[in-house]
Amino acid sequence: MGTDFEQWVKIALSDQVFPRSAALAILCDPEMDLLHLTAAAGDVRIAYFGRDVMLHRINDIQNGLCPEDCGYCAQSKISEAPIKKYPLKSEEDIIQEAHAAKAKGVYRYCMVSSGRGPTPERTQQLAQIIRRIKTEVGIQTCLSAGIMTTEQTQILKAAGLDRLNHNLNTSAAHTPDIVTTHTFQDRINTLEAARSAGLDLCSGMIVGMGETDQDIVEVAYTLRDYQVPSIPINFLIPIPGNPIYDCNQLTPQRCLRILCLFRFVNPKAEIRIGGGREGHLRGLQALALYPANSLFVEGYLATRGHSVDQVYQLIQDAGFEIAGDQSFRDDLCTPRVRTSAEQYQLDDNPNILNPKTTTICDQLHQQ
Ligand code: SF4
Repeated sequence: MGTDFEQWVKIALSDQVFPRSAALAILCDPEMDLLHLTAAAGDVRIAYFGRDVMLHRINDIQNGLCPEDCGYCAQSKISEAPIKKYPLKSEEDIIQEAHAAKAKGVYRYCMVSSGRGPTPERTQQLAQIIRRIKTEVGIQTCLSAGIMTTEQTQILKAAGLDRLNHNLNTSAAHTPDIVTTHTFQDRINTLEAARSAGLDLCSGMIVGMGETDQDIVEVAYTLRDYQVPSIPINFLIPIPGNPIYDCNQLTPQRCLRILCLFRFVNPKAEIRIGGGREGHLRGLQALALYPANSLFVEGYLATRGHSVDQVYQLIQDAGFEIAGDQSFRDDLCTPRVRTSAEQYQLDDNPNILNPKTTTICDQLHQQ
């Protein structure tokens, strides 16, 4: 008997708890048809979010210099990745970059600061920056700055912060394999602190770090338990110099299945295709917009990614739309009124004729 995708969609649309056995099967049943699965996840996504795609841009406001030992992170004290390290950017730079992000149609400005967590003084500094962004720029804000107490999250909330990001990254059972300087419970405590302060939560996962299917399912249900409305799914970026570099677990199809699993377990959440989208989903990026409704533009913490233009093209080609400011969308759409031939580009070779496609007769004539 085939999978009852219609029943799955009904469960998700009534926001009932999705059966765990079905969630696991999405990852480990090779017989489950991927296109039907993706279409069913797309039905759920479209019911809750239409065809909108939310764009997020990360601003790495402090890079490196971190005392923690997260094995997947180029900023950790144990990574040998040759990243550019710098302390907190100036207030003016962060504000200007927020203006630039808004001008590019970015829906939410995500500030990410390395480190275990902010000191009381740093918390006040971040609060001042957020206050200015809210009044001077007027853009949705998200901050990721490590472990925090309730008091710190209250200060940031009072300053106008909309959302706090703190990823679970992996399951409780798998956490000691990827980091030893803090615990899964530390991460849960930060989410609870943010919730008690009235901040929106953003928390997700990094897959491809040696986790089991069961670990992925655990994270999806833990995020459901906390009713997290914003869930980034990152695909491990193989950065030479990081201890966790290549667990050889990810294929485009597996990445797509993982996104579908998160959509069914957390049907109302903004599911974001996070870091590693370009390299791991590859030709399936457009299909990934069926389970997911949110993307990062212009790269991640330590690595580059596709530009706003490339991402817009992907969204447009797949028949989706950028969420948010209409004037920005009009602006972006205008230069794209081009013929299909004008849009055809080969990056690496200006001569689109492949010599291998010429016949023997052609070659003889050329001689
Ligand atoms: S993930 Fe965060 S806490 Fe962990 S090493 Fe990187 S910057 Fe530090």
